[in-house]
Amino acid sequence: MPELPEVETTRRGIEPFLVGQHVGRVLVRNPRLRWRVPSSLLKQLPGQRINTVSRRAKYLLLATDVGTVILHLGMSGSLRVVDSREPAGKFDHVELVLTNGDCLRLRDPRRFGAVLWTDADPNTHKLLADLGPEPLESTFSGAYLHQVSRGRTRAIRDFLLDGRIVAGIGNIYANEALFAAGIRPTRAAGRISRAGYDRLATAIRATLKRAIKAGGTTLRDFRGGDDKPGYFQISLKVYGRDGQPCLTCQTPIRIHRLGGRSAFFCASCQTLG
Ligand SMILES: [Zn+2]
Repeated sequence: MPELPEVETTRRGIEPFLVGQHVGRVLVRNPRLRWRVPSSLLKQLPGQRINTVSRRAKYLLLATDVGTVILHLGMSGSLRVVDSREPAGKFDHVELVLTNGDCLRLRDPRRFGAVLWTDADPNTHKLLADLGPEPLESTFSGAYLHQVSRGRTRAIRDFLLDGRIVAGIGNIYANEALFAAGIRPTRAAGRISRAGYDRLATAIRATLKRAIKAGGTTLRDFRGGDDKPGYFQISLKVYGRDGQPCLTCQTPIRIHRLGGRSAFFCASCQTLG
């Protein structure tokens, strides 16, 4: 599943080909994505210039003078810019055809992605309005996490996955950051100290930045090509490594079912709070 670093890498990959370009037409081969592609998008987007390509959590925002396209990659979505004459594949459900002959193509086999439209401030859209701070911005800090977690009994891993607390952190990066901070994923969020949250905020930022940097090597794949772009592997220390030795202390990594999603941790290294 594309997580924040993959979405940010996608943003960086497609931005140079979109900003300043005009949308000629919108081709929807299958409108039944996570939500139906709205007719307002088909009516309002053609003829518009794409002013900016930004990201909020795992949403990509293509802003024009009259409204904003809100894109989400869901479980299996990917975006690339191709010559619009290039034949589409069976999972290429939506494309924005630019007047310069290129098109932005959404490929999404599982159709959990989304292509939506708003003519209001996108930050007031129901999908975005309640999102917490961006983890890479200065409003996100150990002090912030400490403050919003007081009295909370939820496991810290689930607390981090809640987009209202912090935007766009998925299970892989939550587990990796908790390992880096030495905190057990099951620990109650309200019982973690300010020092623990300072380490955790630093670990979250470092983990995401490392992944975004790794994604930089794939940026050229967003134009043309037939491979799925923007997917890259950072070396994971705990996620998916249950039963394998901890890279720090050799203790076998444990897996724990937590709220329907697996948590991975080293019982020796992750004892702090
Ligand atoms: Zn360990």
